[in-house]
Amino acid sequence: MNSQKNKSIPAAKYIPSETLDPCVHCGFCLPTCASYRVLGTEMDSPRGRIHSLKAIQRGELQIDETVTQHFDTCLGCFACVTACPSGVRYDKLIEGIRPLLNQENLRDPCKNILRKVLLNVLPYPKRLRAILFTLRSYSGSNLQKIFRQVGLTALLGKSLEEIEALMPPLIEESFSDNFPIINPAQGLFRGRVGLILGCVQRCFDPQVNHATVRVLQANGFEVIVPSQQGCCGAVTHHQGQTEATVQLGKALVRSFSDLDKTKDGLTIGPIDAVLVAAAGCGHTLKSYEELLGNENNFKVPIFDVHEFLTKKGLQTSFLESLKPLPNTTGRSLINKELFEVAYHDACHMIHGQNITKEPRELLKSIPNLCIYEPQEIGVCCGSAGIYNLIQPNEAKKLGKEKVNDLTQTGAKTIVSANIGCTLQIRRHLNNKLSVKHPMQLLAESAGIYNPPSIG
Ligand code: SF4
Ligand code: SF4
Repeated sequence: MNSQKNKSIPAAKYIPSETLDPCVHCGFCLPTCASYRVLGTEMDSPRGRIHSLKAIQRGELQIDETVTQHFDTCLGCFACVTACPSGVRYDKLIEGIRPLLNQENLRDPCKNILRKVLLNVLPYPKRLRAILFTLRSYSGSNLQKIFRQVGLTALLGKSLEEIEALMPPLIEESFSDNFPIINPAQGLFRGRVGLILGCVQRCFDPQVNHATVRVLQANGFEVIVPSQQGCCGAVTHHQGQTEATVQLGKALVRSFSDLDKTKDGLTIGPIDAVLVAAAGCGHTLKSYEELLGNENNFKVPIFDVHEFLTKKGLQTSFLESLKPLPNTTGRSLINKELFEVAYHDACHMIHGQNITKEPRELLKSIPNLCIYEPQEIGVCCGSAGIYNLIQPNEAKKLGKEKVNDLTQTGAKTIVSANIGCTLQIRRHLNNKLSVKHPMQLLAESAGIYNPPSIG
C-alpha cells in the first residue's frame, strides 16, 4: 500500500478494541454488504475493513489513500450490523474512523473539492435554495429532457451528471417552507409535537412535510414548526464531519428552545415529542445525546413519525375518513381494485432505528392498499447521504439493482420514507412508476391533501 503520505494518527482513541474484538471474521455479513456486492473485494467488505481497523489499531497499517478509498466505498448502511451474529457494532467503527479520513492529503483533490461544496451547500436550505433557484426553469423542462435524451449531461462529468439526474422538478414549495409556527390539532386534542423538516426533503420533496403535518393534525396533534430551523446535521454526520454536525445540531435544538422567547404574541405550550419524516435525519437526531451531550439535547423524545403514530394509534375519525386510493392511471376504481405498492426499507430506518413494521401497519389502514415485499429487503439502494454523488459508479449499480428488485414485485407505486432513497429510486426508475412517502398516501386517502402542481 502507498505509505508516502502516511500520518501519525492516534487511531486507538477512535477505534475502541472492545468494539473490534467480537468480530470472528465469519463472513456472515458479506452477502448483505452493498459495497461488497458491487465491488466483490474483501477490502470493500465489513470483514475486510474490520481487519484493516485491527491492523491500524495495532500500528501495523497506517491510513493512506488506498485505505481511505476502501473506507469511502462503505455506504454506512449498517446492514452488516443487523446481519452479524456476534453483535459487532460496525456502525460505531465506521463512525469512529471517518473523522480521520477527512484530512486533505488522503483523497484526490477533485473529490475533496466536491465533498466540500456538497457539505457547504446541502445542509443549509438558504444556500441550497439560492442555487436551485437558478435551475428552476431548467428542472423538469423539455430542455432537461432533451439534454438527458441526447446524452449532453454526460459532458458534466460523472458526479455532476449524477447531481443533474437526481434533481427532481422544482415546485413553489421547494423555495419556501410556508408553514405557520402553530398548526392546530383537529378534533380531540391528543398532544403537541415539533416537526423537523429536513434540509434536502424540504427542498426536493416538500409535499412530504405538508402531508405529514396534515396527517398529524387530523389525528389530534398540534404541530409546531419553528421557522428558523436548519439542518439536523445528518449529511455531515454521515461523512464524519463532527464539528459541523455539532454546530448544526445545537442550532436546531436552539430553534426549538427559542420558540419560548418569540415576541409576536404566540403562546406555545410544551412539546411532547420531536418528530421527523426522513429516516436519515431520524437516525442522527436519535444520536444527539452522544453527539451533543445532555446539556444541548432535546429535552423530549425523538420519534420517526411512523413510530410515533403507531405508538399513539390513528384516531377513529381519521380511520373512518380513509378512502380507497385511485389507481395510478387515474382511472376510477373498478369494484375493489387494489392499490399495489412495494415498500422500500431505508437503511437508516431498518438497520439504524429498527423500524420495519410501523410504516407497513400505517399503510395497511388504507382500504384498498396492498403491500408487496421485494426480495432483498435491507440491501442499500446506493443513496446513502451523498454517496451517490461522490461514488457514482457503485451507487448506479446499486440503484439499478434496487429498482429491479422493487419493480419485479409488480407494484405500481413504490413507497419510501427517506428522501435520499426516494431521489435515488426515482432517478433509476426513469419516471416509470411514482415514488411516494407513506404520509402522502395516508393524506391522499383521507382526502386532506392535494399535491401541489409542478411549476
Ligand atoms: S462483522 Fe460479524 S458477521 Fe461480519 S465477519 Fe465479523 S463477526 Fe462475522
Ligand atoms: S455499512 Fe453497509 S456498505 Fe458499509 S460495510 Fe456495512 S453493509 Fe457494507
